Amino acid sequence: MVIKSNIKDLLAELQGSNSKLIAVSKTQPIEKIKEGYDAGQRLFGENKAQEMMAKHQALPQDIEWHMIGHLQTNKVKYIAPFVSLIHSVDSEKLLEEIDKQGKKVGRIIPCLLQVHIAKEETKFGFDPEKVVSFLNGSAIVQLKNIEIKGLMGMATFTENKEAIRKEFQSLRILFDDLKECALPSNAMMKELSMGMSSDYIIAIQEGSTYVRIGTAIFGERNYPTN
Ligand SMILES: *Cc1c(COP(=O)(O)O)cnc(C)c1O
Repeated sequence: MVIKSNIKDLLAELQGSNSKLIAVSKTQPIEKIKEGYDAGQRLFGENKAQEMMAKHQALPQDIEWHMIGHLQTNKVKYIAPFVSLIHSVDSEKLLEEIDKQGKKVGRIIPCLLQVHIAKEETKFGFDPEKVVSFLNGSAIVQLKNIEIKGLMGMATFTENKEAIRKEFQSLRILFDDLKECALPSNAMMKELSMGMSSDYIIAIQEGSTYVRIGTAIFGERNYPTN
């Protein structure tokens, strides 16, 4: 019941914005995801390839699965047949592997480039300058089985709301600047994935099109994951 009402409350908050809700179900059991599904939620986010694959097999096929966590190249094959969007593309090597696996299964796999906007060293992602040069280079257009839909970023974990806002703004500005550029034919700036339980309100105000929310839907996770 609580999952259903949490989703309902979040959707009410998102109403009028451009942002879609991804329920981050990492570590959550099938029954809890089913509860979200029965409340009408169809977009779910996971951060581990094999866990996502198992849940995809166990749950209704009209769920859109979003990969939001750091993805190792040797795990891409597990999700290539069905994943809806990979938010966490953080290297050229990973993008090439997604392309290769997309070819194998006859799909064009939608991707976002993850941009490093936080102060923390630990967060993955391209540096902003690297994203610009990568999108302006000649490598991406060779990859026929991927499509870049936009950018993803995570703000620093801090209580300082202004610092968070500045980081989201920097990502939004990069996104808007790239929209004005001549991008490769398989790249576009349509989706901006930013905002989690602690900072989604700010992210929506700053132009997010996908918020990735776990704790505020399912409660605290039982065990930590990375
Ligand atoms: C776990 C996770 C989330 C959701 O975090 P909550 O604080 O539980 O909402 C969002 N994005 C990424 C990349 C995550 O790994």
